[in-house]
Amino acid sequence: GTRIFDPMTTALVSYAEFRYHEQAGERIVDLLKEPIMPGEQEPPNNSKLELHQVTFGYLEKAVLKDVSISFENDAFTALVGPSGSGKSTILRLLARFYDPNEGTVRMGGEDISKMDPEALLRKVSMVFQDVYLFQDTIANNIRFGNIDASQQMIEDAAKQACCHEFIIKLPNGYDTLVGEGGSTLSGGEKQRISIARAMLKDAPIVMLDEATASLDPENEEEIQKAINRLIRGKTVIAIAHRLKTIQKANRIIVLNEGQIVEQGRHGELLALGGLYARMWSLQQETSGWGISSKQG
Ligand code: ADP
Ligand code: MG
Repeated sequence: GTRIFDPMTTALVSYAEFRYHEQAGERIVDLLKEPIMPGEQEPPNNSKLELHQVTFGYLEKAVLKDVSISFENDAFTALVGPSGSGKSTILRLLARFYDPNEGTVRMGGEDISKMDPEALLRKVSMVFQDVYLFQDTIANNIRFGNIDASQQMIEDAAKQACCHEFIIKLPNGYDTLVGEGGSTLSGGEKQRISIARAMLKDAPIVMLDEATASLDPENEEEIQKAINRLIRGKTVIAIAHRLKTIQKANRIIVLNEGQIVEQGRHGELLALGGLYARMWSLQQETSGWGISSKQG
């Protein structure tokens, strides 16, 4: 496939998010290996996303094979499937980090490759498993969601994302530097800062790539609370590893080896007795997740 953004790290996600903010542009410009292809059109107001007969591979091998999905407006759509089945690749195509080899990705019925990539990314907030924070203050890390935000707006977003409490306990509060030479934050704390950033951005579409590694129970609960607030009233596309987090999804799409093998609601998929049902029962048996694991 054609690479549009270099997706080597999620830094590029944030990079793409604030590339259009001139003041930050210079600091990261050399991360870009290929220029973003200019597009003419602004994305349409209707932000319904679709994959239409998409085939895609990073190299020779096809990773997605003739996949068609439409992500309904205001619905919660979950993507599940074994590791390597193509879930994260779908998010990368929807955000146009890559273009498909065949087929089209559409927003509001129009091919996204004809749109201005930056305008497209303004419609999307992403919360990924590997959170990248810039070597800057905590306040500025949140501000990347909306460069015009006031300190009050930043703190409100932080409160919503369950991070205000730990931030104010840091030596310099919101002005604490993160990263090299700055404060070390736990994975869960970083993730909550990225949720605050997304909260501030307030984009109509939210993409979530759930962490595979289990967080400690306290962090997990706080993050779940923050995510529930973030996705209220939004179009949500969520990759889930723990199926208990998506039981209420409007639609669950089950992928295997780059193809859709099942789709439906939780109950329907259980009744089907296929891959989803097997994954579900496996997770019940090996409930090694945080709180539910046996003691002793
Ligand atoms: P999932 O998120 O479902 O675990 P991915 O979409 O990340 O799966 O990956 C699907 C397939 O594409 C895997 O076989 C993976 O090894 C391969 N893949 C993912 N990213 C790259 C890349 N940047 N270059 C080459 N192959 C990749
Ligand atoms: Mg993945």
